[in-house]
Amino acid sequence: MTARIREDLESIPPYVPGRNFPGAIKLASNETTLGPLPSVSKAIAEAVESANRYPDNGSVELVTALADSLGVAPENVAAGCGSVAICQELVAITCVPGDEVLYAWRAFEAYPVVTKVAGATEVTVPLDADHVHDLDAIAAAITPRTRLIFVCNPNNPTGTAVGRRALERFLDSVPAEILVVLDEAYLEYVRIPVEDRADGVELGRSRPNVVVLRTFSKAYGLAGLRVGYAVGDPEIIRSLSKVHVPFSVSRVAQAAAIASLEAQAELLDRTDAVVAERNRVRTALLDAGYLVAESEANFVWLPLGDRAVPFATLLAQSDVLVRPFAGDGVRVTIGDPHENDAFLTLATKPDALAAFSG
Ligand SMILES: *Cc1c(COP(=O)(O)O)cnc(C)c1O
Repeated sequence: MTARIREDLESIPPYVPGRNFPGAIKLASNETTLGPLPSVSKAIAEAVESANRYPDNGSVELVTALADSLGVAPENVAAGCGSVAICQELVAITCVPGDEVLYAWRAFEAYPVVTKVAGATEVTVPLDADHVHDLDAIAAAITPRTRLIFVCNPNNPTGTAVGRRALERFLDSVPAEILVVLDEAYLEYVRIPVEDRADGVELGRSRPNVVVLRTFSKAYGLAGLRVGYAVGDPEIIRSLSKVHVPFSVSRVAQAAAIASLEAQAELLDRTDAVVAERNRVRTALLDAGYLVAESEANFVWLPLGDRAVPFATLLAQSDVLVRPFAGDGVRVTIGDPHENDAFLTLATKPDALAAFSG
């Protein structure tokens, strides 16, 4: 007989790693195609020399650099083993079993997992017809048990973003004792006009119940090293340290993140090329007759419904890997131009068009 495991974990599907094989074009995980800059590789190599030593548990140097860069105090910043780990920590500091975590659906796949692991209850609100957060409906779904609201902006996997005014109005309608988590993993790819662009750090300055999550995994190209951060009220940040798995942000991750911040301008410049490709891919798909959500991220969303898995399977037969969400849609990460071309060539073949466009 095996040891007794919590029965409620049955409702959490086991993690299935994305398919990958040598030679495949991987457009499935929203990664950056370019490797680390030389200055970042050098910092990584130097950090490895001290691998026998524990990292700084508080990531103090990184936190200080982030605070400087964002114009906040170090007390407002916490680092985590990817921002997904901070999602888990945020649920841990706000929820006991029976409390509710509220979010739009479909959104980031980690939200249901971290909610259920904490024994909390998920409450989901459908995206609107344009695959955008329905903020009024989310506000209307708040109950006395709501402890945390995730707003993924831009939203993974649909790529849609809400603007500053809409988000401000929403935040002003949420009771101050409910924590609102603005997950901005794709912020660097947003190109809506500056005056209507939502910047969670700015919105959070006057709202102590707002926490912003950002990551080095996407635009900064460090997905393999696991480092993200939270910006928020000092009391929230202090609470995070209580549930933090000790030393979970490695020495190498901290050093790479610090070096990446120093190269911020160069790394952010790279996002322009991704955005140009995103617009090219989306336009080509629309011209071919596909439905494609607007995107402010490094991927596009095809709301294919029941045809999502067959579409991904067809592409995989030709070694192009995209991410289907069964019954819902397909997320296609923007890769290098030749990778995007390979995807578009397959997606616009007559058999694919006949089955999946429109
Ligand atoms: C990729 C992603 C993250 C970041 O994950 P890390 O753990 O930092 O790699 C967070 N939120 C969303 C919505 C994401 O898509």
